[in-house]
Amino acid sequence: MNYRELGSTGLKVSEIAMGCEGMVEDDYGMCKKLFDAALHRGINYFDLYSPDPKLRSAIGHALKGRREKFIIQSHISSVWKDGQYMRSRVLSEVRDAFEESLRLLDVDYIDVGMIHYCDALDDWNTIIRNGILDYARELKAQGKIHYIGLSSHNPQVALKAAESESIEVLMFSVNPCYDLQPASEDVEDLWADEAYANHLTNMDPEREKLYEACQRMGVGITVMKCFGGGDLLNAELSPAGAALTVNQCIAYALSRPAVSCVLAGAHSVEELNLSADYENASESERDYALALASFPKISWEGHCMYCSHCAPCPKKIDIASVTKFLNLAQAGKNLPETVREHYAVLEHHAGECIQCGACEKRCPFNVKIRENMKEAVKIFGL
Ligand code: SF4
Ligand code: SF4
Repeated sequence: MNYRELGSTGLKVSEIAMGCEGMVEDDYGMCKKLFDAALHRGINYFDLYSPDPKLRSAIGHALKGRREKFIIQSHISSVWKDGQYMRSRVLSEVRDAFEESLRLLDVDYIDVGMIHYCDALDDWNTIIRNGILDYARELKAQGKIHYIGLSSHNPQVALKAAESESIEVLMFSVNPCYDLQPASEDVEDLWADEAYANHLTNMDPEREKLYEACQRMGVGITVMKCFGGGDLLNAELSPAGAALTVNQCIAYALSRPAVSCVLAGAHSVEELNLSADYENASESERDYALALASFPKISWEGHCMYCSHCAPCPKKIDIASVTKFLNLAQAGKNLPETVREHYAVLEHHAGECIQCGACEKRCPFNVKIRENMKEAVKIFGL
């Protein structure tokens, strides 16, 4: 298993992590089996958005004697009311639900307290106005959570939260189809047929800005909906008009700036293993670029997808990394020191480019790599 930094938290998380939606199968018996399998595969991070008390108890049972082996991302504002899941912005309900979650999970603390499901700017303001953000800060000060997160599908809301420096982790929906769509306050819009009726070109600039801002600001992204609820894996359901594989979806999400891990939902140990098998997949199995380039209804013309198809470079320049740092540098007004440092430690720099153009012939997205190399030299000085 490969482990990545979770933003600036200092936590090292497995790049394949676990969602909780499949754990209710088998009358919650699945839960322990999935945690056993996760440990076996080196998975150390999981998300718990569900307030279902039976599920929380089952997870508490599954964690018994091995709490420290897992980093828990659990949600604040996800409450169980009248026998069902609800999102609440009522502080008293939120407090009770969180205290109850500690009791049911039988843990003293949650690593990442994730403020649950905020897709509208008004709702973000409500979270502040109703004292829910302050409550998360209070929990952090008490050591009941170690870091504050927010889950969202809307890049405008997520960017606002990240830029306010209120959150350290963002749970965000990332896949190549959602990435084409403009911000919306209704998650259903991301998958609506009408949203894909016309030919689509390139990533939504607000999403790109969000990923780059999170990378610059040290906000770690944990990815939900990397398979688009499974639709992306099915040619008939995929809005792209063609299917991707599990490995391609994971590789795409993990190559976005700031992404630390992919939360793979699993309804069985076999499904969990399928995602964990990404770790053993070959470069060609992970390669999403040619699949994206062949989508009939979507194109990413001139836009770097960080796929490394342009390799090898005769000067051994890691073109995808140089381009990622160039984009990060161009995204903000000032060049962040961390970006300059990460660029500086690359083994080979854009300044070594001999403008041979071999890379451009291999790029499926017609990126102007030679121009990018010149830009990188101007910005980084090497
Ligand atoms: S320049 Fe082209 S081939 Fe290279 S990483 Fe970017 S998109 Fe891929
Ligand atoms: S143009 Fe520059 S970056 Fe591209 S292959 Fe040639 S030397 Fe490498």
